[in-house]
Amino acid sequence: MDFGWTPAQRAVHDRMRALGAEADAAAPDDRMRVLARGGALGLPIARDLGGEGLDLVTTALAYEGLGATLRDGGVLLAAGAHLFGVALLLARVGTPAQQRAWLPRMATGERMATVAATEAGAGSDVASVEATADRTAAGYRLTGEKRYVTWADRADVYFAIARDGGDGRAGGAPARGLTALLVPRDAAGGADAAGAPAAAEGRGAARVRPGAPLATAGLRGARLAPVSFAGCEVGPDALLGRAGAGLAVFQIAMTYERALILAFRLGALERALGEAVRFARERALGGQSIARHQAVAHRLARMKLRLETSRLLVYRAAWELDQGHRGQAEAALAKWHTADSALQSALDDLQLRGGAGYLEESGLPSAVDDALGGSIHSGTSDVLATIVARWLGV
Ligand SMILES: Cc1cc2nc3c(=O)[nH]c(=O)nc-3n(C[C@H](O)[C@H](O)[C@H](O)COP(=O)(O)OP(=O)(O)OC[C@H]3O[C@@H](n4cnc5c(N)ncnc54)[C@H](O)[C@@H]3O)c2cc1C
Repeated sequence: MDFGWTPAQRAVHDRMRALGAEADAAAPDDRMRVLARGGALGLPIARDLGGEGLDLVTTALAYEGLGATLRDGGVLLAAGAHLFGVALLLARVGTPAQQRAWLPRMATGERMATVAATEAGAGSDVASVEATADRTAAGYRLTGEKRYVTWADRADVYFAIARDGGDGRAGGAPARGLTALLVPRDAAGGADAAGAPAAAEGRGAARVRPGAPLATAGLRGARLAPVSFAGCEVGPDALLGRAGAGLAVFQIAMTYERALILAFRLGALERALGEAVRFARERALGGQSIARHQAVAHRLARMKLRLETSRLLVYRAAWELDQGHRGQAEAALAKWHTADSALQSALDDLQLRGGAGYLEESGLPSAVDDALGGSIHSGTSDVLATIVARWLGV
């Protein structure tokens, strides 16, 4: 077992730290473009498909570097949904044609992807989705209302989960559970899998309708919004995995996402801890530093403990996936522990500063709001605990 980083891993981590700083200094609307230009959206994608072909442990170290310097957790969440929730899924279950059609442009950010699974009656229980994917002579027709979709209004393609409605005719193909589709933003009537602009070709009005970004507590940069699919026609090449295997495809996507989506938080936790230690040393009351109080020092020590345990779990989950293992429980542990650690450490960080921490300008209340979101997306902490409990056989 080797806990050291190779020179190549250190180099990519440092490169992403520098890129994160550049993105942090950019206007919020430009940050994703900066990340894309610097290669952050293609790191684990194969070289012959336009990426850098990095393993997932190195990708985790890279996103840790981004999180150390880029404070916009929302845009990092959106980058993660694109790369870990969709691109890695495509690399795993997509056909060679689907991979060639999408991955080179996703690696550069020319095409942005997101996950559209959640509905009013189906969040934690994705098996209850009511969106329908009816089979047609030309492929599928997707109808349904998704909500809380990250990067909804800026995505070019949606990984959507829907109920397979069969072809609706007596004696026709029967319904087969859930189906996973890759739906281009401009799908209208027969848009191709490479996202050819259907409307421009006179095939009808756009039928993918993202709503306006919602006023969320934190992670505003993620641009959460509903997306309406109003009878979107897609070809058979939009199908991800087998028809009816949508739930299994979704679980694969969530395993990649849970393993890696909070890797950036490791960098953010380290940065916050460094700043908190400096504050505790410098803040003097009655002639002595507050760090001399055991209650303060232990608060900092617990932040360190949460950072290091989160690191181990994220690296471990990434390693499991690199080995070709299923990694579902390891990914659940990594996401669950990192999300809860980020939230508890954000609260500790704020309380450590006293009144100054409560001021909006300190950035600490919004860090708490951001961390709260992390314990909900990609599976709530309760749902992840349930996955771990099932793994234990209870
Ligand atoms: C910042 C953010 C980004 C998001 N991005 C996306 C996205 O890109 N795409 C997308 O499709 N969705 C996205 N979501 C939606 C997110 O995946 C859901 O909100 C989440 O899965 C919970 O579903 P829900 O909101 O319907 O809550 P519910 O499922 O109704 O859960 C309500 C409560 O019940 C608990 N609960 C429910 N079922 C169980 C269970 N089986 N075991 C234990 N506890 C349970 C939950 O933990 C929770 O406390 C995002 C959400 C947030 C906050």
